[in-house]
Amino acid sequence: MAERKSGPVSVVTGGAGFLGSHLIDRLLFEGHRVIAIDNLITGNTANIGHLAGNEEFKFIKHNVSNFIFLPEDKLDYVFHFASPASPIDYLELPIPTLKVGALGTHNTLGLAKDKKASFILASTSECYGDPLEHPQKEDYWGMTMAYHRYHRIDTKIVRIFNTYGPRMRLRDGRVVPAFIGQALSGKSLTVFGDGSLTRSFCYVSDLIEGIFKLAMSDFHEPVNLGNPREMTIKQFADEIIRITGTTSTIEYRPLPVDDPKVRQPDITRAKKVLGWEPRVSFEEGIRHTINYFRESLRGAL
Ligand code: UDP
Repeated sequence: MAERKSGPVSVVTGGAGFLGSHLIDRLLFEGHRVIAIDNLITGNTANIGHLAGNEEFKFIKHNVSNFIFLPEDKLDYVFHFASPASPIDYLELPIPTLKVGALGTHNTLGLAKDKKASFILASTSECYGDPLEHPQKEDYWGMTMAYHRYHRIDTKIVRIFNTYGPRMRLRDGRVVPAFIGQALSGKSLTVFGDGSLTRSFCYVSDLIEGIFKLAMSDFHEPVNLGNPREMTIKQFADEIIRITGTTSTIEYRPLPVDDPKVRQPDITRAKKVLGWEPRVSFEEGIRHTINYFRESLRGAL
């Protein structure tokens, strides 16, 4: 990467993943130079293939649970977005998942401290568990806030609620690719439990907008980002059936253990602090996503 521009320099860990790759597109659009780091354990270089040859972009294959060495003197932002992120990944990769959450966060915080860069942590609404509070407000924090308080690092924490869009993995087990993949291939949609559990789905471009605004803000406590439009999984399945026009039907399966019964972000803080709220309608976002999966399935044949 040429050392000629004076624009901000950002590191994105998990840069070949679903959210990381969309974030990189946005940062490049905003005039940043971007260094993506990913060990490709769940990421895919196809997500950043369109950036090949872009002089403002560099990819490093590395596991951020190990020490990160970067020769660059100037680094402005470290976005820590590396983590397996789906139920199947957590089952298959429990130790890498825990390591990247602990050691990867430690190493990326250390990198930000060393280079005097801002640090943005991708946290997850999973930390709210099966919530007692509904909708969920921001609560509790860990190592990142300690670095902010003790080392005075400029840190931000985004709590990400269910987000969907192009570049999700078809077989990662999450409900959006699962139902769309099933509908497009004429298989039954596997609804877990009686379909009454709820989730609130945010389109990826809305989420990235919120993350960018948070990164540029001077707010340090966790901020929920997600779409408060809540629906049951049965309603979601019905919508996928309607929009794809499939002949597939619903098949009920046993509920996984520890599946949160409801989830809906309270985005009061994001509205107030960032002036952010989601704009993309469910219909529009899901149509884009279905088209993406339709194209990828065609490519896979
Ligand atoms: N789900 C489902 N069928 C599937 C995959 C998921 O009914 O084939 C349900 C799952 O039990 C959960 C919801 O959809 O209640 C969202 O699951 P996902 O894994 O997408 O996200 P998370 O549980 O992390 O919100």
